[in-house]
Amino acid sequence: MNSPDDMTPQQLAAMDAKYLWHPFTPMQQWIAEGDQPGRFIERAEGFELIDTHGRRFIDGFSSLWCNLHGHQVEQIDQAIRDQLEKAAHTTLLGHGSPPSIELARRLAEITPTGLEKTFYSDSGATAVEIALKMAFQYFRNIGQTKRQKFIALGESYHGDTIGSVSLGGIGLFHGIFGPLLFDVTFIDSPNPYHHRSGENGAAEILARLEEILSTGGDEYCAIIAEPLVQGAGGLLTHPAGFLKSVRKLASQHGVLLIVDEVATGFCRTGKMFACDVEGVSPDLMCLGKCLTGGYLPLAATMATQEIFDAFLARPQDGKTFYHGHTFTGNALACAAANASIDLIFESNLLDSLDEKIEIITAALAPLGEHPNIGDIRQCGMMLGIELVADRTGPEFFNPDDRVGVAVCRAALKHDIIIRPLGDVITLMPAPAMDIATLRRLLDGVVKTINEYFK
Ligand SMILES: *Cc1c(COP(=O)(O)O)cnc(C)c1O
Repeated sequence: MNSPDDMTPQQLAAMDAKYLWHPFTPMQQWIAEGDQPGRFIERAEGFELIDTHGRRFIDGFSSLWCNLHGHQVEQIDQAIRDQLEKAAHTTLLGHGSPPSIELARRLAEITPTGLEKTFYSDSGATAVEIALKMAFQYFRNIGQTKRQKFIALGESYHGDTIGSVSLGGIGLFHGIFGPLLFDVTFIDSPNPYHHRSGENGAAEILARLEEILSTGGDEYCAIIAEPLVQGAGGLLTHPAGFLKSVRKLASQHGVLLIVDEVATGFCRTGKMFACDVEGVSPDLMCLGKCLTGGYLPLAATMATQEIFDAFLARPQDGKTFYHGHTFTGNALACAAANASIDLIFESNLLDSLDEKIEIITAALAPLGEHPNIGDIRQCGMMLGIELVADRTGPEFFNPDDRVGVAVCRAALKHDIIIRPLGDVITLMPAPAMDIATLRRLLDGVVKTINEYFK
């Protein structure tokens, strides 16, 4: 058998079609299309992805929102190599390990006040799964057993395990997996464009939340929200102050606030965490994606001391949190995360973001009047450009026409890889992307859209 390095791009594509089942991918179409520019990525350097033909593309979606400092970053590569000399993985069940301890200390230091304890897992979905089980059991442990229900936002996305899907508000999943999901109370997303409601739509949504909490409040254990912006729902940005108001209402009614920072965490929004933008301290916080700089699968659920303390008892008291995964707190991943967090500070990454955020806003402003752009939504380095058939209606495209997919495909011509969420083109440059590459990316996206709709 040849090693993959000896295979031609066509042979690799054929083998992929034969053996792989890709995530979130209509496989019939994938197999029919075979090899495509930018599809099979062999190498990645800095902010570029290099396909099996050797062609380079700007990584405009941060390798699905997780890449922070670029690819092949010497400091992170070295940290992983150094850890490899010691141990690739040892368990945290009944044991501990230096890199996981060090990372937990750092996370307590950099996350909002009050979050003290780190519970590791491997993906954003498991981080959310853990938060919901913690919230549920927390109230059991303190004797408030009536509190069993959750509140979530419409159009939210929290991952693909059954618990996380239950908390998510994306219709596609609820249609198919509905019978498997538990009941969640949804309130509307406060994105003003989404509901054509203007900013005061948020006030109505908060009033609705208050009503839910005032009438059935003692049955709820937690509210979960993606802070400031709902990523996979279509980059639905929230009006300023919404998160803070939700925090206040949750506290007033004795309900926990779970913040899902899997997408927003680690510099995406212009601050270290989205919560920092509004000075909010949640009770539980989910981290993933950029935690390791996008290198390895690692996630964390952060909890307050108060929540943690409710699980302290003798083993026979039944208050222990019985949850874990084989690779919880993987040493290589923790070493990568430690190096990535160091690099955020050493490179003054946070200080460089305002300028980049302004460059993005300015570069896309000319699209604002384009007849096929309904809305441009930006939250720091996260961007959604909504494509519409006619902005004056607005009149939407038929989703079956997959216009978003077609526009992203057209961007390949400009050596850019981006992905759509329906008809929302998302741009998610790595926060550390250099300004020259960022300008090249933005320029290419504007050109692509102008050419596509001319
Ligand atoms: C991506 C994402 C998740 C799921 O993370 P996975 O690592 O893909 O399981 C959860 N919540 C949010 C907000 C996300 O963007």
